[in-house]
Amino acid sequence: MNDQSKSSEWVLPEGLPRPVPSTEGLGAEFWAGTLNHQLLIQRCEDCRNWQWGPEIICRSCGSEQLGYEPAEPVGTIYSWQRCWYPVHPNLKESLPYVVLLIALDSATGVRLVGNLVGDAEQAFEIGDRVTAVFEDHPGDDPYTLVQWQRSEG
Ligand SMILES: [Zn+2]
Repeated sequence: MNDQSKSSEWVLPEGLPRPVPSTEGLGAEFWAGTLNHQLLIQRCEDCRNWQWGPEIICRSCGSEQLGYEPAEPVGTIYSWQRCWYPVHPNLKESLPYVVLLIALDSATGVRLVGNLVGDAEQAFEIGDRVTAVFEDHPGDDPYTLVQWQRSEG
């Protein structure tokens, strides 16, 4: 795990709400995986469909036999938005920032939301290749966010 000095490398500042699994526990395995820098995505054990966000049944076949499997932490930019207005008071000093919608290579149909690492005004476009960056937030109740960095080449 990274130490407290890593906070200066976070995409967004401290003081934002901590991500938590839903009250039913859906998503708990995803968040546990991120602590180990692993991308675990829900997958149907019957029809092998990947899905995200997590559900209690498979959206493809209706099965309740769902598990989590590792997905490669690489993908492409499917959509994005550069944010110029703070949606939370703690974001006032961190504008602009970029929110990305990433299509994962190895989990067909799954798209994850995250932030772009680095200069928020860098040039990029839909279809650019990205790699996950696991952003550790240490402390008494640590968590890790999945952010995205443009891949070389
Ligand atoms: Zn299924």
